Amino acid sequence: MPELPEVDALATDLGQRLHGRAITRVDIVAISALKTFDPPIYALHGMFVDGVGRHGKFLDLDLSGTHLILHLSRGGWVRWRDEVPTLPPKPGKGPLAARVVLDDGSGLDITEAGTRKGLAMYVVRDPQDVPGIARLGPDPLGDGFTESSLQEILTASGRSQIKGVLRDQSVIAGIGNAYSDEILHAAKMSPFKPASSLTPADVATLYQAMHEILGDAIARSRGLGASDLKGEKKAGMRVHGRAGQTCPICGDTVREVAFADSALQYCPTCQTGGKPLADRRLSRLLK
Ligand SMILES: [Zn+2]
Repeated sequence: MPELPEVDALATDLGQRLHGRAITRVDIVAISALKTFDPPIYALHGMFVDGVGRHGKFLDLDLSGTHLILHLSRGGWVRWRDEVPTLPPKPGKGPLAARVVLDDGSGLDITEAGTRKGLAMYVVRDPQDVPGIARLGPDPLGDGFTESSLQEILTASGRSQIKGVLRDQSVIAGIGNAYSDEILHAAKMSPFKPASSLTPADVATLYQAMHEILGDAIARSRGLGASDLKGEKKAGMRVHGRAGQTCPICGDTVREVAFADSALQYCPTCQTGGKPLADRRLSRLLK
């Protein structure tokens, strides 16, 4: 799933490609992906692209004041095409969910792979009309997000585990399963640590790790097209998605434990004093 750095890079890349272009039409193939009906999709036809932005993990195409908002979720992606077919796509079993056709014959394919359909598209007059955007917490790289903002968030989160707090979009916007693993690894912190138990020194470390990990990922992703972003994200990971492999910092074996609806990866030596975390998924099965 694309997170803050990838969506940021997509917004930059698409912003350059779409700047000054007008939309000829938008073909919706997967009707269920379009979550709004007013304004209708054809309200975008003939509109100029003023800019492409980001809210958390949402991509925002500003079309002369009307917005096409995309949430790529787990399997969604966008693919730039220098030339799109002239005939509208037919609904079928392929991954194509929608196609944006531009006035110079180029365009954008919005695709979704897999069976867990989560891709969402919205046509709105104001991005805040999208419930997921209205609910978003502050952006961790935003100017106003200081160490004391993080401290306040953690105090307010009480005994919630820090891993869950970091990826809760209504608390902090843009961080998902992958970068929360990476941030906690960089901060040498257990993912199960209660949020309110962090000392001021811990908060400073976590704040720094957040900026370092997201900043590095953004720097690596900038200038890459959509097709190269997924590979870059994966290649930059130290623990996430690397269970059984070696921690590049200390040489211990990266481990995995169940968390919420999926799993998290961490390094015992770097993060939990060398002790593996108990996998509650396993202990539930044994009871
Ligand atoms: Zn390690």
